[in-house]
Parts: sequence; structure tokens; C-alpha cells
Amino acid sequence: MFVFNNSRVVITGGAGSIGTRTAIAFLKQGAEVIIVDLREEKIQNTIQQIKDETGQEVNYYSCNLSNTEATKELFYKLEDKFGPIDILVNNAGIDKDKLLMKMTEDDLDTVMNVNFKAPFLLSQAASIRMAKRNFGRIINISSVVAFTGNKGQTNYCSSKSALLGMSKTIALEYAKRGITVNCIAPGAIKTPMIDVLSEEAKEAFIKKIPVGFFGSPDNVANTVLFLASKEAEYITGQTIHVNGGMFMF
Ligand code: NAD
Repeated sequence: MFVFNNSRVVITGGAGSIGTRTAIAFLKQGAEVIIVDLREEKIQNTIQQIKDETGQEVNYYSCNLSNTEATKELFYKLEDKFGPIDILVNNAGIDKDKLLMKMTEDDLDTVMNVNFKAPFLLSQAASIRMAKRNFGRIINISSVVAFTGNKGQTNYCSSKSALLGMSKTIALEYAKRGITVNCIAPGAIKTPMIDVLSEEAKEAFIKKIPVGFFGSPDNVANTVLFLASKEAEYITGQTIHVNGGMFMF
């Protein structure tokens, strides 16, 4: 596996399912990790969980990414507090599902602010700082539904599609500055969102997945580590699909 000694990584939504596994994966490979998330209590539980598994401490910063002014400052504040950041993982995401005819402007804005505007603002600040050091990795967590669409998720699918265009463009603008920018598009990953489905619904879902099982948060985390590695220097502006074959691009 890849080595991240002397690397500092920020993971937004780091107290969530995929974020926590990504933090653990980075810690095990020697990185210093900062998790950013919303609620202090959830963050503290995650820190304890990570300590129990790895014996290591994780840094954290509590921030509401819906707050544009706070998010504009966030990357700079994190560097002031913890030092230069090499890797940014824009992982925090929310959904607010409704059929389009019932979707409100607030449903759109709420989802776009967390899923797209926050990654935009963080990537903007990160790329300015990373370019000065001629190295950086930005990894944006999109979704398979950015490619397929999904009924009831006009806002979510739009936000996840927006990340694709954003990533390609930043990748082009900073290609000569040692910064790579890529997306990961997970399919159905075994998180509480899947756990709450009935057994029948799970079986029906699995029939659509060629490998025959749900992905794990570790499957996504390991892909993040690959894209973040120095060895992935020739991969930029791309999306890696982690979906067990349910959609092939
Ligand atoms: P999760 O809900 O477990 O984690 C998301 C984290 O983001 C949570 O800890 C939450 O507190 C945090 N967050 C939400 N709003 C925030 C805000 N305003 N400010 C700061 N933090 C905030 O979700 P997950 O399943 O781990 O998903 C992680 C990412 O992967 C998301 O972007 C999601 O859209 C994407 N994704 C997940 C799946 C899946 O099957 N789970 C599939 C495709 C894509």
C-alpha cells in the first residue's frame, strides 16, 4: 500500500461512514489526518472509534459547510492551526430527496451548498496554497447517480455532476503545479443508508450489481488513498468508478 509519512490530509464529512474509514486508512499509512464535520458529539465518537482501532489520534475541526463565509476561510484556518495540507478529500455530502415537482428552491440550495459549493470553495483555497508548494491532491466524492440520474434526486445528482466538471477544470488549471484533481463515483456502499432497506429491497438491489454484493466504505477509502498517492501523479481530471460493475463508463 501507499505511504503517507509527512503527509497531512483533510477529510470533510470525516465523521461519516466513508470519511471515518478513509481517515483510518490514511492513519495506518502514516498520514496526519484532520477530520472536518458538523457536530461535536459525532466527531468525538469517531475520534474514539479511530483511537480504538488504530491507537492513533486524529485532529478535528468542527465546521458547518453550509455556511459559505466559514467555508471560504476554512482551508486557511486549518493550515494556520495544523500546518500545510497536502491532500484535500471533499467527502461531506447530504441528500434531500423529492420528485422534481415537489422539490423546493431550499431543497436545491441546501444540497448544492454542501455537495458542490463547499468543495468549490475548499478546492479554490487549497489549490492556491498547494500550487505554492508544487504538490497537492484534491479528491472529490461524486456518485454513480451523477452518470445515471436517479428519480427523486434532481438536486443530489446535479450536485454530484457539478463536481465532475469542476474537477476537470481545476485539473487543467493546475496541471503544471503538481496538483492532481480527481473524482470517485461510488455505487451502492454498505452504510446506514443501505442498512435501513428491507431484506427484499436489498436482494432486489444486489441483483443489479454484477459482483453480487454491496461495496464497503473501505473500497472507497482505498481508492482515495491510491489517487492521493505520489504514484498516481499521472492521473488527473478523471473519475474512478467504485460500483461493482453496476454502471460501466
Ligand atoms: P455519511 O452521511 O455517513 O457521511 C457524511 C458526513 O458529512 C456526515 O458525517 C455528516 O455529518 C457530514 N456533513 C453533512 N453535512 C455537513 C455540513 N453541512 N458540514 C460539515 N459536515 C457535514 O455519508 P457516506 O455514506 O459516508 O457518504 C460520504 C460521501 O459519499 C457523500 O458525499 C455521499 O454523497 C457519497 N456517496 C455515498 C454513497 C453510499 O452508498 N453511501 C454512494 C455514492 C456517493
